[in-house]
Parts: sequence; C-alpha cells; structure tokens
Amino acid sequence: MTSTQAPTDLESYLEGTRDARLGSYADFLRFPSVSALPEHSDDCRRAAEWLADQLRAIGAEHVEVSETSAHPIVYGDWLGADGAPTAIVYGHYDVQPVDPLELWDSPPFEPVIKGERMLARGSADDKGHIHMHLRAAEALLATRGSLPLNLKFVFEGDEEASSPGLDAWLEAHARQLEADVAIISDTGFFEGNLPAITVALRGIVYAQIDVFGPPVDLHSGGYGGTVQNPANALAWILAGLKSPDGVVQIPGFYDDVVALTERDRAALADLPFDEEAYREAMGVLALVGEPDFSVLERRGARPTLDVNGLWGGFHGDGSKTIIPAHAHAKVSCRLVVDQDPGAIFDLLSAHVARIAPPGVRVEVQRLGDGRPSLTPIDHPATQAAARALEATFGRSPLYIREGGSIPICASFEETLGLPVVLLGFSQPDCHAHAPNEWMDLRNYETGIRTIARYWDELATSLG
Ligand SMILES: [Zn+2]
Repeated sequence: MTSTQAPTDLESYLEGTRDARLGSYADFLRFPSVSALPEHSDDCRRAAEWLADQLRAIGAEHVEVSETSAHPIVYGDWLGADGAPTAIVYGHYDVQPVDPLELWDSPPFEPVIKGERMLARGSADDKGHIHMHLRAAEALLATRGSLPLNLKFVFEGDEEASSPGLDAWLEAHARQLEADVAIISDTGFFEGNLPAITVALRGIVYAQIDVFGPPVDLHSGGYGGTVQNPANALAWILAGLKSPDGVVQIPGFYDDVVALTERDRAALADLPFDEEAYREAMGVLALVGEPDFSVLERRGARPTLDVNGLWGGFHGDGSKTIIPAHAHAKVSCRLVVDQDPGAIFDLLSAHVARIAPPGVRVEVQRLGDGRPSLTPIDHPATQAAARALEATFGRSPLYIREGGSIPICASFEETLGLPVVLLGFSQPDCHAHAPNEWMDLRNYETGIRTIARYWDELATSLG
C-alpha cells in the first residue's frame, strides 16, 4: 500500500479524540428518529438538524436541511479538491421502530457501551456508519487541512420507510449532485466478521395472476367435465412457469442476464459457506435450483421465479364439491443485472396468456418492482475500497452478492447515473431491525481509518 500522506498524524488525532468521538456517537443515537411513526417526526427533524450542525462544525459548506415529501434530507459538501474526483456519501439517520421493547436489555435510545459493543437502536443501521464518515472527514480536515477528493454528503431520513421522497429529491438536485461515484454505507461484513464488499443486489418484479371462470361457483357433479376449472387452469399456468430443476420457462427471461465471469464465480466460491449447514438451518429436505450453478450463485447471482401465495375455491373443513369461479396467485421474480423489471413483467404476462388453457379469462397485474444493481469487482471504485479494507483490516475483502434489494442503490444508479459502492462495517449478527442492536466498536474505529484510506485510494484511482 502506498500513501503519500502522514498516517501517524491521522492516527494520533484519532487516538486523542476517541472519548469525544464516542460521546458524539452516543449523542446521535439518543434521537428516537423512527421514520415510520408520525409521533417521532420532530425527533427525525432534530436528528437532521444535529447532523447539519456536525457538518458545519467539520468544515462542510452548503449545509442544508432540505425538505422532501417526507422527512428532510441533510446535505453538505466539501469541494476544495480542485480537479480531484467527487464522491457522494449516503447514509440514513432514521431508524426502525423498537418494539418489542421488553426484549431490549437496555432502553433503545439510551446508548451503552458493553465490552466492544455500542448498544442502541441505530448503532449499526445506520447512524454508526454516518458517524464514521463524519469523523473520518473531521480527522482528515483537522490533520491535513483538506480532503483528497470532493465529498457531497446526503443523509436521508426515510430509508426504513421505503424512501418515499428520495427519487424526487435526487432528480430535483441532479446538478448539485454531479459526482463520480456514490458510496453507500448501510451494509456489513460477512459471517465471522470478515471484511466484505457487497457488489450486487437483486431486483424484483411482483405480479398477481387472476383466473376467472363462471360468474359463480358451480356444482362439480352437474358441470364438471364441461367447463374449465379456474383452479386447475391456474395450476397448469404455474406449472408452465418453471421446470422442476428451477429453470424459468418464460421465453426471453434470461436474455439480458449478464453472465458471471470467472472472477465473479471465484469470488463467490471464496465465501466460507457450508451447504449442509445452510440446508439444515433452512429446515428443508434438500437444496434445489439450477443445476449448473452453486447454491451461492443461485441465491445471489441468478434470477428466480417464486409463487408467494395461492388461493381460490373451497378451503374449509371437510369437502365441498364445486368448480370455483376464480383462482389467484402472487408471483415474484428476483432479477439480476441487466434484467429490466418492466420487460420481465411483459414477458411473464405474454407467457401466461400463451399457456393459459381455453375457457377462462386470465389477468396479470403488476404490483411492484425494483431494479437490480451491480458494480463489478474490477471497477476502480470497488478495487480502491478493497485496497483500503486490506490496508486497515489486514485482509482482502470478500465480495458478496446479496439476494435481496436495497432500492436506494438503483436510485443513485438510475437517477444520477453513478456507480455505487456498498461499503459497510457492521457484523452480520448485529441485530439490525431487532432488539439489542449493536455495533462492534473495533469495526467502527478501524472503519473510520478505512474510510479515510478509501478516499485517498479513490482520489488516486479515479483521479
Ligand atoms: Zn439501513
């Protein structure tokens, strides 16, 4: 690792300010900024104002508590690195609700340090991460008088409530937010506290299939064998969506899937993962899925199709001999880059229409979607993060492909056209969203050094 800066200055500054830093972290955690509950609206705003004060204190400019359709977004920037790249730093200051309260060992908004853990709602998700970025910027500005690159801080207050105001705010501020990369710190390390970078997230498209037959339920003795049964028809349709070995049967479904490279496959194979332990933890008889892909590839790097719910006809005790008037299913597909949720929905609808048996009316509704996202392992911004993690945690990171979604990633990619690097430091069992949430203070402290190092590395590799 090369660094032209003077790490001892930064290190001694960080050593000397640890107590004050932990005090400030605790102050931030005391705001009960629960975005989902209207009675905490004022708390959200107070947390936003506190962050704005913090930004001003470390020397950020254009600091603003900016209104959205929901809770405010805190913006501030430092643009003194002429000719250097610009990074957006995103975090969210809102937190999940705390119930069931009785399962907390200490009150969720009265932070306590136990051993190497900071315990409080938001300590990991996501206030700890915001605080690490603030302290990294503060330490660099205090010791060097400047940052190696330009930073634009965007701290949201609605992430835990689906970010209703974020996309419109990003669009309205697109010029102000011009940058080279977005750093989202809202993820964590891999099991065993192994440093990790999440490089891909799956998208989703969610649909409902409705099958309509006769206007009312019919006697299956009197009419069976002459009219189409919507429940049978639905079963026929669903069976035609996926083969027994897990391959989706919708023509064109895989056309836009970006194939895994050798490096991608090697990175997934590197993750410490025990298939048998996983099977046992899921409580299932066997693991299934596309034959040519490993379990981790199927879980994070391949698209899927699943029936999420199924209803229609008679389901009470005993028997009732009817041909039901209608039957329904909820179906969702997890998507990978470059599948487009709208295009996949159209392919699904067309396939359902094609395979539906005669005698029933079939409708397919689109209930929701989210785009997949990916920043390749060999992207310079990913590699800069990898070097920073290796230099500070002493181990090159693992690369995770997350099976779920973080919708804000797609917002930054789509709305601002930026590559997104997901760099987070919480432990996988940190109880995010659950009682007794905690942040490992070693990860927090080392993470501040990682972030400072990352900005240096980014300035070099994107500059
Ligand atoms: Zn979060």
